[in-house]
Amino acid sequence: MTSPRVEVDLSKIRHNTKTLVRRLKVHGISVTGVTKAVCGHPAIAQAMLDGGVAGLADARIANVRRLRLAGITCPVTLIRTPLLSQIDDVVELCDASYNSESEVIAALGDVAAKSGTLHNILLMVEMGDMREGILPGNVASIARHCVKTKGIALTGLAANFACLGGERPNAAKMAAFSTIADKIEGQYGPFSGVVSGGNSACLPWVATTEETGRTNDFRIGEAILLGVDPLNGEQIGGLFTDAFSLVAEVIEVKVKSETIVAAFGSAPPPNIRLVADNDCCSRSILALGRQDTDVLGLTMPSGTTYLGATSDHMVVQRAKPEIVVGSELKFQMNYSALMRVMANSDVVIKLVKPPASKTRRVAKTKKTHLDLV
Ligand SMILES: *Cc1c(COP(=O)(O)O)cnc(C)c1O
Repeated sequence: MTSPRVEVDLSKIRHNTKTLVRRLKVHGISVTGVTKAVCGHPAIAQAMLDGGVAGLADARIANVRRLRLAGITCPVTLIRTPLLSQIDDVVELCDASYNSESEVIAALGDVAAKSGTLHNILLMVEMGDMREGILPGNVASIARHCVKTKGIALTGLAANFACLGGERPNAAKMAAFSTIADKIEGQYGPFSGVVSGGNSACLPWVATTEETGRTNDFRIGEAILLGVDPLNGEQIGGLFTDAFSLVAEVIEVKVKSETIVAAFGSAPPPNIRLVADNDCCSRSILALGRQDTDVLGLTMPSGTTYLGATSDHMVVQRAKPEIVVGSELKFQMNYSALMRVMANSDVVIKLVKPPASKTRRVAKTKKTHLDLV
């Protein structure tokens, strides 16, 4: 079979989505499924829709186009503020976009008005992540600009946490965000769209509060796709962490030791060990490298130790039983490995169906603080 390839179990993505949608519904929070890590892969997006997301969101217009070309007609929101050079496409392909710049909002309004439509705007508020967002003190004036701009409808507000700054939202920040939402609505009328409180990193906050305030939506990617909390990589109780696997083929298997390397006069400096301490084991090379994925974001299969990687080779050490040239190894991926491999056009994406017995494994997952219910 083609290698390297990503195997995707859509039933696990559907399960993860359904579980999060159900748990958040109790708190009055809907889920927008974020497809950017899988580059808007239509079947994966559809699995999110089947799991009950209210809509989809992506950061890149090319990914949104891919969703649309595949016939996905649900609401799709651009979660990265639009590029001035892509305004036409944003108005054509997206129901709404998150915005933080007046100039961009004006351009969106121009294009929408000319084509006789309305483009929906959610204002992104800077709540401390220090990535994108309008400073809280400036939200009202930009909201006024939206209301006055032809072709624009101000439909909601959003905050983002733990992307650049890595800090989780806390009760005080979420309350401050709700206060801003109340204030803007007080001045410019009720939002017809969502008040989007954040991403996967917000899930623990919901578990610890009765007061979700104005937040009625989360934009969730990683927790659906990988079943983990993005900040610590811990499994979220009841979710699958293995919906995706990366499969690579073995292209060389040899026993090598530093003694051999030294014999050829090119021993590495003493502080670098190219061979693991236990140099009796066989080393295998996989046809996979840094150009394909974030190799440090791979979880090795049992009995396998990562030794190193270059652009096209990854060297691992295997305890017995040995593998042979032509055999395959399967790896789990973290978010960084996943998003890079999904953006690699040489990697084949294969949708797989699990044997029926496997779907029960999720019931055994250890319970964590992230259960939410
Ligand atoms: C990527 C992104 C998300 C989704 O984040 P996850 O951690 O994958 O849930 C949500 N909102 C914005 C603005 C993003 O850029």
